Amino acid sequence: MDSRKVSIIGAGVVGSNIAYSLMLKNIADEIALIDVNEKLVYSEILDIKHGLGVLGETKIHVGSYDDIKDSNLIIITAGRNRKPHETRLDVLADNINIAKNIEENIKRCYKQGIVIVVSNPVDVITYQIYKVLELKRNLIFGTGCILDTSRFVFSIADYLNVGIKDVNGLVIGEHGDSQVCVWSQVYIKGMHIDEYCKLHNIKFNDTDKLIIEKNVVNMGVEIIANKGKTHYGISTCTAHIADAVLNNKSIEASVSTCLNGEYGLKDVSLSLPVVINKDGIKEFLHYNLSDEERIKLQISNDKITKYNSEYVKGVL
Ligand code: NAD
Repeated sequence: MDSRKVSIIGAGVVGSNIAYSLMLKNIADEIALIDVNEKLVYSEILDIKHGLGVLGETKIHVGSYDDIKDSNLIIITAGRNRKPHETRLDVLADNINIAKNIEENIKRCYKQGIVIVVSNPVDVITYQIYKVLELKRNLIFGTGCILDTSRFVFSIADYLNVGIKDVNGLVIGEHGDSQVCVWSQVYIKGMHIDEYCKLHNIKFNDTDKLIIEKNVVNMGVEIIANKGKTHYGISTCTAHIADAVLNNKSIEASVSTCLNGEYGLKDVSLSLPVVINKDGIKEFLHYNLSDEERIKLQISNDKITKYNSEYVKGVL
């Protein structure tokens, strides 16, 4: 197996929790944690290291951009978090400048590896970094709707009182308010959800679907209102992707990818279902969306494209 080195840029709660998740599951051999706040990154590493004697064998240290050169995976989490009253797009003006600083440094040092963007608004920041780094598009993507898909599956399992592993679900489009819950592809124990509910006499109509959709889109807001940030969910999802890349496990996930005609969309980064392995995005999965889902995906596309032309093209 190749060496499994990860550079994480941004050692705030999300970056350090990703490092911690990777360490607990022995997903990586070495982690370089990079942040402009030297005291913070030093202390986060000390804190994580103190668990290594008990669980985990990963080498973890304060990193610099030189660590990028031999990293197999580069994860970008630097950026400010949204406040309770803000959407993810409201932090764009601040985070695009941080992204600009980071991409210049990566460009200077990059030799190999997959780049994963977590910083919000993840679809616009991924598009921006993709444009600047000029990498092949399988090598860079954002975590996108992997978290929303997980929240969607969790909400359905809760509603139907079944196990999370019994539910197959998918959220695509923007990691944000215009995301699309793909009901046409929701299966419970291998049976389409509408059929499953009919068979089990469970009340499940368009209003119930709408309540679940609203719940999924607002979960981040609810968590931020109560504790100021979200980090466990996204860190675990990112560790799952990192495991696929570093340990060559093929996984299916809905992540924000730079599109070139898939589902009729082009020149934008949005979440669609893909297979991820050591090569990054191995392939796109093509599902038959309903007409309503296609229209909603187009709305998501138009919204993010508008932000891209306003912010990204302006800094290129
Ligand atoms: P945080 O404030 O705890 O950490 C951000 C870190 O970035 C800080 O430590 C800061 O010093 C560092 N930083 C700022 N500028 C930098 C630069 N130029 N170079 C290196 N480091 C720099 O925030 P957080 O809660 O960890 O969130 C980080 C980002 O992740 C935010 O944009 C947040 O919205 C996003 N996020 C995304 C998801 C998702 O699903 N994609 C989920 C949760 C949070």
